[in-house]
Amino acid sequence: MSKYNHIFFDLDHTLWDFKTNSRKMLETLFHEFDLARHGVENHLQFITKYEEINEAFWADYRKGTVDKKTLRNERFPRTLATWEIGDRELAHALNEEYLKRSPQQSTLFPNALETLDYLMNKYDVHLITNGFKEVQATKLRSSKLDGYFKTITTSEDVGVLKPHPKVFHTALNDANAETHDSIYVGDHFESDVLGSKNVGMDQVFFNPEGDIYPPEATYEIKDLKELQDLF
Ligand SMILES: [Mg+2]
Repeated sequence: MSKYNHIFFDLDHTLWDFKTNSRKMLETLFHEFDLARHGVENHLQFITKYEEINEAFWADYRKGTVDKKTLRNERFPRTLATWEIGDRELAHALNEEYLKRSPQQSTLFPNALETLDYLMNKYDVHLITNGFKEVQATKLRSSKLDGYFKTITTSEDVGVLKPHPKVFHTALNDANAETHDSIYVGDHFESDVLGSKNVGMDQVFFNPEGDIYPPEATYEIKDLKELQDLF
């Protein structure tokens, strides 16, 4: 018998393949907005620069030094500034399309659905995500992930972000779960592994690229399919 009754999942970069979906969208926008005409060499340069700038904004957002509005308003103008494109309207249009259409992308990590099918027969499955509420709901629908989760907790609802303990406590409470019969699956070492560990939950570190971290997680996996052997 497993000691667990509840399995909590992270969404972005754990089930929903954020990086692949974002890159597909940026490549589409590069062509639709004819950014080559504006001086951007190719879509790969555009994607690389956008990711670099977006990640820096997200790091500041996690620290609380930048708000959601600034993050959304400034990442495309800052990206275009790389090529000395000062067209705020173009940047605004890119941002609008990116926000609207990225969540409609449907690429999941390999074996996500079959693993959830397996797990939901034996456990209550839940979601805890740092993304924005309305955006996450669209992703779940587009990728056919809706219907798997008994409860969904977004950090936007709670008012703070993982790894803040309040996010995990709220989720456990909503799920009628206890720390000792729950485990959390996520890709981010600080937000997910250390965050859930700090409130007393066991953790699965989803580390598909095999990055090196201290061996602090209860379990570490490279493929979601491994959850079917663990649980
Ligand atoms: Mg994640």
